[in-house]
Amino acid sequence: MHSKKYFIANWKMNGLKKDLIQISNIENFFKKKINFHNLLCVFCLPYTILGLVVAKLKLRKIKIGAQDVSSKSSNHGAYTGQISSKMLKDLNCKFTIIGHSENRQIGETDNDISIKIGLAVENNLTVILCIGENLKEYKNNQSFSKVKRQLYLNLKKNKKYLNKVIIAYEPIWSIGTGIIPQTDYLNEIFYKIKKYLKKEFNVDAILLYGGSVSSKNMHQLKNIHLCDGFLIGGASLKSKNFIDIIKKYYS
Ligand code: PGA
Repeated sequence: MHSKKYFIANWKMNGLKKDLIQISNIENFFKKKINFHNLLCVFCLPYTILGLVVAKLKLRKIKIGAQDVSSKSSNHGAYTGQISSKMLKDLNCKFTIIGHSENRQIGETDNDISIKIGLAVENNLTVILCIGENLKEYKNNQSFSKVKRQLYLNLKKNKKYLNKVIIAYEPIWSIGTGIIPQTDYLNEIFYKIKKYLKKEFNVDAILLYGGSVSSKNMHQLKNIHLCDGFLIGGASLKSKNFIDIIKKYYS
């Protein structure tokens, strides 16, 4: 297991100017507490808020990330609505989510994801690659075969970039539902994913859990043996909820 613990917020399509205070609150919390030195906190924000954070907040403890990047190989050009990895690098953004199930569901392909990973890493971004099965696959005992296939298709052309890729295992049926898998199930799939990545790609991957993470279920989730941290959606929108998660993890 890696010594660093990752607490990564995914704000999705949320956040207005007034919500910057949530991020400042968390920054202030980290400044006051000295016993979280192995913790790495990243906020993956909508592009609009990323720009505002850079302009208005001087963050020292929190890193910023995006939620997606363009798959266009050119870093600039006539691509209406697209944001390139180079533009994110220019904002001093260090991370980006790629392959979130909400984007896969609206047509992002494994090939798109593979291209995006390369472009992001070439621009010095660390990728948080999301994988996970849907409810039907889970019920049919196909979870591992599904995520294994995603990993293979998304990473096979990116072997030289793997030291800049973090994996987030997010069962789709757990995202936003308040339901989390049993600890035994999670221990098993975390073991299988790490073993597969070592065997296929010779990498000791950083592996996170995502899906309805909250302070209420942290007592269960912190028992996943091989888990290096969490990708947190809904519970990252309010500073109090996010801070409660961290307190519960370290309690
Ligand atoms: P959730 O979202 O914590 O709201 O379930 C997690 C995610 O989709 O990354």
